[in-house]
Amino acid sequence: MNKEKKQIAILGSTGSIGTQALQVIAEHADLFEARVLTANNRWELLVEQARLFNPAAVVIANKAYYEAVRESLADLPIAVYAGAEALCQVVEGTEIDMVLTAMVGFAGLPPTIAAIRAGKPIALANKETMVVAGELINGLCHQYQVPILPVDSEHSAIFQSLMGEQSPIEKIILTASGGPFRTFTREQLYNVTPAMALKHPNWDMGAKITIDSASMMNKGFEVIEAKWLFGVEPKRIQVVVHPQSVVHSAVQFADGAVKAQLGVPDMRVPIQLAFSFPQRLQSTFDRLDWYAMHDLTFERPDTERFRCLALAYESLRQGGNMPCIINAANEIVNRAFLEGRCRFLEMADIIEKTMQRATFMAKPTYENYLETDKEARRIAAEQITSK
Ligand code: NDP
Ligand code: MG
Repeated sequence: MNKEKKQIAILGSTGSIGTQALQVIAEHADLFEARVLTANNRWELLVEQARLFNPAAVVIANKAYYEAVRESLADLPIAVYAGAEALCQVVEGTEIDMVLTAMVGFAGLPPTIAAIRAGKPIALANKETMVVAGELINGLCHQYQVPILPVDSEHSAIFQSLMGEQSPIEKIILTASGGPFRTFTREQLYNVTPAMALKHPNWDMGAKITIDSASMMNKGFEVIEAKWLFGVEPKRIQVVVHPQSVVHSAVQFADGAVKAQLGVPDMRVPIQLAFSFPQRLQSTFDRLDWYAMHDLTFERPDTERFRCLALAYESLRQGGNMPCIINAANEIVNRAFLEGRCRFLEMADIIEKTMQRATFMAKPTYENYLETDKEARRIAAEQITSK
């Protein structure tokens, strides 16, 4: 270990964000080191990454692959752990300077909390953590004096627009690509397939978030994420569909001035900034071609066709554990749609019913979130199997 370099733990190193984070680390090997790498199922890729980046430890969350990983790395001084609990323990290591939460779904919540309690700055990609338990996370970050650096491109753009500002935010302009079905009618949406949903026009991401982008639940989650990260009420967060994904989001201030961050869609930009903040580092990523941008367009989102966005706002209005309920139900329908067990438009119906049926709690504790997640998953899953 080189103490001069920032030691980074990557939770979910085998995913879309995780692999791009490793590209950033490789590009700036003089500044950053991958201290911990973790995966769930893609154990072979985890082994490959470990051989390349030589971390102190790896965790394979799915215990079935523990022996395979251990044997494959037996010749190297890399500690190998398995299971969800190990993810929480491994982020507490004294040498770790930053934890990138690039796991997908509710599973990211416990290790993020463990990292905050251990005083580790968080580079936050796992937006579900803020959706489920934003208030709790903010309280812990305050208590342990831990900063959160946003990795989600919109939130990084908002963060960058706020750099150097002391004045309050009048409004956040949260841009959305609109996904692959932006121009589809309701009738067309009825018949869309997972393969169609997986073809995102601008971003190459993991399957779960790609489906969420197609349903616009992703944007709903980002509204919730923005509320907690920037302390802005939902009525001051305006979603604007901007299919070209050049303006990554913007902030409007009291004098009417709007500051935005623009760039070629490339997640390595916000990942790198989260690692290097407050510095900006050199990069070889593509630059905007200003003469090629003839048609940056902006439009109102249609919450009738994309009901998930409206449901996310509604979950915020109700507050308490409702965003946790919507997240759990969404994880179930997202997977079901992907596996062909549920139609695209049914996802919103099932989520809405789950919101009505699950036990509401106005002031949930961490344990309540765990219970809520289980209950809401069960209620959502029942609606799929009962058909
Ligand atoms: P991927 O599906 O590509 O990767 C997810 C990673 O998490 C993989 O390493 C996976 O392991 C691991 N993982 C999944 N489930 C578990 C689990 N139960 N326990 C432990 N590890 C698990 O997702 P993305 O990289 O696309 O997204 C990661 C997070 O970042 C999400 O919260 C997403 O919303 C957010 N995000 C992603 C963006 C993107 O461009 N991809 C943009 C903005 C935010 P394995 O593959 O080995 O099974
Ligand atoms: Mg985003």
